Amino acid sequence: MFDQKAKDSGAHRQQSLMADIIDNALKNKSFYMVYQPQFSVNTGRLIGFEALVRCHSEKFGTISPADFIPYTEASGDIVDIGRWIFKQSLMDLDQFHKQGLSNISMSINLSPAQLAAGDVFETLMMHTLNLGLNPRLIKVELTETALIHNAEMAVRTFAAFRNEGIDIWLDDFGTGFASLNLLREFNIDGLKIDKSFVDGMHLNDNDFTLCSAIIAMAQRLGLEVVAEGVENDLQMQILSQLGCDSVQGFLLGKPERFNACLQRWLKEDSSRLIAL
Ligand code: C2E
Ligand code: MG
Ligand code: MG
Ligand code: MG
Repeated sequence: MFDQKAKDSGAHRQQSLMADIIDNALKNKSFYMVYQPQFSVNTGRLIGFEALVRCHSEKFGTISPADFIPYTEASGDIVDIGRWIFKQSLMDLDQFHKQGLSNISMSINLSPAQLAAGDVFETLMMHTLNLGLNPRLIKVELTETALIHNAEMAVRTFAAFRNEGIDIWLDDFGTGFASLNLLREFNIDGLKIDKSFVDGMHLNDNDFTLCSAIIAMAQRLGLEVVAEGVENDLQMQILSQLGCDSVQGFLLGKPERFNACLQRWLKEDSSRLIAL
């Protein structure tokens, strides 16, 4: 009883601390985007970036989205923050193209509350049209939870995306409760194998078998596969042998701000992945 109370008050304190941090960040506009490169395993070339949000706090430094996104989901703030994320990451995609990284794509994460708000398609398309971007270079990533909680909205939104050529990816694949059913019910273009499977794929038979089964299944279903969280050469070699389409991870590139990405990846030879 006492323990539970102490736990509750700890959680409560943490929540109000996060509320302060987010309120301040909204007031001071201290959210910013970083971009993590994604590479084709086949060609070894940079094919796009995943847009990842960060929050800067004067007091606590950089706050991870793993900590603040769940809070903003509960408070509803993610909807406004998400609209800003669309705008910023698409403006940056346009600049990547204009400054020499032509034809690369941008993957944007969508959380359940954003999907539920009902305007993601309109907002994304408004920026896409304003900037004159090719919708085929835009991808959205959703988790299983986002789909399960908003099935009807997801079907409608996906149809609209599909009409414009915007790809839909299932993020953190394998970590939810309904992966296979979702593949049957939703029109999805690709899967991201969750890092937790990639972590152990070179170390234990189970994780290796799961990764290889996910890749084989995706191939049979005509879906693309990205492996996330690739951290070493051994994982890279195995993923290549298994026929994984693309890869993302600290081995290949960490998420960085726009200018740093441009500097690092603009050089012709650096946009080529380390030798496979
Ligand atoms: P996610 O979409 O699965 O993103 C991948 C996370 O794994 C990112 O963490 C990325 O920095 C990290 N990562 C990538 N490669 C490696 C690696 O090789 N090693 C390790 N240790 N980590 C790696 P991040 O940026 O902290 O994001 C965490 C989660 O927060 C994301 O998971 C996503 O669910 C959510 N998130 C991030 N940005 C956004 C956003 O703009 N909007 C929404 N709605 N959610 C976001
Ligand atoms: Mg993602
Ligand atoms: Mg992921
Ligand atoms: Mg993840």
